[in-house]
Amino acid sequence: MQFPWQKNRNRRELLAQPFPIEWQAYLSAVAYYSLLPNSQQAALRDITRVLIAEKHWEGCGGLILTEEMKVVIAAQAAVLVLGFDADYYPNVETILVYPSGFLVTTTRPETGRVLREDLVPLSGEAAQRGPVIVSWADALQGGRNLGDGRNVVLHEFSHKLDMRDGAADGAPYLQDSAAVDRWARVMSAEYAQLVQQTQEGEPTLLDAYGATNAAEFFAVSTECFFERPRPMQHLHPELYGVLRDYYRQDPAALFAMHGKS
Ligand SMILES: [Zn+2]
Repeated sequence: MQFPWQKNRNRRELLAQPFPIEWQAYLSAVAYYSLLPNSQQAALRDITRVLIAEKHWEGCGGLILTEEMKVVIAAQAAVLVLGFDADYYPNVETILVYPSGFLVTTTRPETGRVLREDLVPLSGEAAQRGPVIVSWADALQGGRNLGDGRNVVLHEFSHKLDMRDGAADGAPYLQDSAAVDRWARVMSAEYAQLVQQTQEGEPTLLDAYGATNAAEFFAVSTECFFERPRPMQHLHPELYGVLRDYYRQDPAALFAMHGKS
């Protein structure tokens, strides 16, 4: 176990070193990074370095984990906590990386109370007291492609933010009771709307997977907030406002500054 002052000293020593030049090139795979002003880019590089140094990283399914993979994944995770103060995901110890989508066994009830086991392909997973798992192919695609509303790293790490105050219930830790009330009011109305639209087969800005439950709704909304902020601000202004105040970031303003729709 490391004492906090040792951790702080290690971080200071780490961040006193220059950012590795080859890592800088890897950041070109994180499209969101290029939109940030210089000071925010520097903050993101620092968070990226701490996440790489302090978390346990492991390649799975035969994947040989490279520094490029760590940088591209850590930098996207860093996007979520850019607005927070020195936040390095205290509830994430381990990050497992598969080459591409991986199969997990799920059980679901069938008729006559028989449980059926299915192998389901996933691009990522976040366990309550376990690791974050991501597919490298999907993490790279999500980093490069800004604007499709899909990003497995943002999705899984937002689950970890949600889990900090206990269960993954779609509500992360919030500052005060007014914020909690506002969150509950806006999120439940937006979630109900997505469920209804999905059931009726209407096209939606938010991925229909968000209609699964409140936790997935928060994760899917987070993806949309950072990937398609301007349509979200236009079509779901209250949802956008709640997430802007929670993340303490305004991606719609960033996109507008760069002429991105
Ligand atoms: Zn999820």
